[in-house]
Amino acid sequence: MEQNSSFAQSATCLKQAVPFMVKYQIPLSPMNYAIWYCYVLGKEPELNQKLDEILMEHGTCPPENAKALFDEFLSEQDLALFHEMSDLVKGTLNTVEQEISNTLHCSEEFSAVLSECHVGLHQLKKQNVGTGPEIYDGVLSYVSKLTQESIVMQHNALCFQKKLEVAYSEIKQLQETLTDAQTKASTDKLTGLLNRGKFDDDIIKFCDDPSQFQKVLIFIDIDHFKQFNDEFGHQRGDDVLRKVAQKLQSHSERQGAAYRYGGEEFCILISFSSISEAVGFSNRIREDIAKLSIKDKETGEVLKHISASFGIALYGKEMSWHSLVECADKALYLAKSHGRNRVEVAG
Ligand code: GH3
Ligand code: MG
Ligand code: MG
Repeated sequence: MEQNSSFAQSATCLKQAVPFMVKYQIPLSPMNYAIWYCYVLGKEPELNQKLDEILMEHGTCPPENAKALFDEFLSEQDLALFHEMSDLVKGTLNTVEQEISNTLHCSEEFSAVLSECHVGLHQLKKQNVGTGPEIYDGVLSYVSKLTQESIVMQHNALCFQKKLEVAYSEIKQLQETLTDAQTKASTDKLTGLLNRGKFDDDIIKFCDDPSQFQKVLIFIDIDHFKQFNDEFGHQRGDDVLRKVAQKLQSHSERQGAAYRYGGEEFCILISFSSISEAVGFSNRIREDIAKLSIKDKETGEVLKHISASFGIALYGKEMSWHSLVECADKALYLAKSHGRNRVEVAG
C-alpha cells in the first residue's frame, strides 16, 4: 500500500515536472527528471532558487548547470527512483491490463452462472406451484438471495473494473505525456528536424554501432546567409531554413537522420557502402537546394538563388566522435574556401 501511495505521489510529481521540462527544452534524461522532480516537490528551496536564476539567464538549463545542480543537491540514489519509475510504469501497465481482462472475464462468468440459477429456480417455482406454501416460500427466498448476491457481485465487479480503467488511463496518459515530451525535446521548433541535443546523443550511438557500412557525417551550411537576412529580412530567412530542412529530410529519411546543428548549419548521420555514394548523395541534395530561389512576389522575377556548402567526414575505427565532427567541420571549411555551393570530403 505504501509503495502504491509513493508511486502515486511520484507519478503526480512527474506529471507536473514534465510540462516544465518541455517548456524549457530540457532533455528527458534521468538526471534532469531528478532535478525537476525535486523542483516540483519544493523540498530544496535553494535548488529551486538556483534553477530559477539559471532559467532567467539562459531560458533553459544547460547541461553543465544541470550537472552542477545534481552534484550539489542530489545523489545517485535519486537517479534510481527514475529508473524504477520507468520500470514500474511499464510493469503496472501490464498488470492493470491483465487485471481488467480477468475481472471482465470473472464478472461475465459469475453473471452467467447466477442468471442460469435464477432461471432454473424460477422454473422450479413454477413446477411446484400447488405443492405447498413452504416450498414456494423457500424457493422464493433462495431466488431473492441469489438475485441480491448477483446484484452486489455485479456492482463490485463494475466498481473494480472502473477503478482499474481509471488507473490504466492515468498511466497511459503519463506515458503518452512522456513520449510526447521526449519527441518535443528532441525536435527543432523552426524546422521540425531533430535538434542539436538529439544529435549529441545520436552521434555517440552512431559511432558505437558495429555496422559494416561506411559511416558518414555530413555538415551543411547555407551560403552567405547573413547577407540574405540583411537583404530580405529574418522572416524570409526562416522560410529558407524550413525549405532547406525539408530537402535534407526528404533525401535522408530512408537511410539516415537529418539535424539542425544550430543557426543555418545542419548535419546528416548516414551510412553508405562507398565514399562515392556519400559524395553522390550530397551532390544531389546540393543541386536540389540550388534550385531554391527567392522570387519577387508580384513579377515572379528571381531575386536570389539559395545554395549550401557540404563537408563530408568518414568514420574510421580508431576515431572518436569528436574527431569525426572536427573532420566534417574542416571539410565544410574547405568547401567554403573553394568557392561555396560544393561538396568536399575530409582528407
Ligand atoms: P557563409 O557562406 O560563410 O556560411 O556565410 P554566412 O553569412 O552564411 O555565415 P555567418 O556565420 O556569417 O552568418 C550566419 C547567419 O545565419 C547569421 C544569422 O543571422 C543567421 N541565422 C542564424 N540562425 C538563424 C535563424 O534561426 N533564422 C534566420 N533568419 N537567420 C538565422
Ligand atoms: Mg553560412
Ligand atoms: Mg555557419
